[in-house]
Amino acid sequence: MTANPCLHCGACCATYRVSFYWSEAESLGLAPALTQQLNPWMACMAGTHAPSPRCQALSGAIGAAVTCSAYAQRPSPCREVQVGDARCLQARAHHGLAPLPPLP
Ligand code: SF4
Ligand code: SF4
Repeated sequence: MTANPCLHCGACCATYRVSFYWSEAESLGLAPALTQQLNPWMACMAGTHAPSPRCQALSGAIGAAVTCSAYAQRPSPCREVQVGDARCLQARAHHGLAPLPPLP
């Protein structure tokens, strides 16, 4: 196990619609192919506006080993979820993964 449990999880990247104010994509340098415009104001990570969301930047197997190809440019919702918080626990439960405690 590495110190970062997210590298063995990825559940939140495959549970929620990851939406943000559209200009974030431009200011962060997110590849246009990895985003989807939702309306004049909001965009989301491609693949997350779907009945079974999965961000197209995510590779690997949920709960085993994953990587994010856009990690350095990831938008604000990705930075807000913290290991062990309510959204983390809900996403992990959605994928049948045990809850994790918050990081020290
Ligand atoms: S669900 Fe929690 S542990 Fe899994 S990737 Fe997201 S923040 Fe990390
Ligand atoms: S951009 Fe990266 S961190 Fe954000 S949802 Fe997609 S795979 Fe997860």
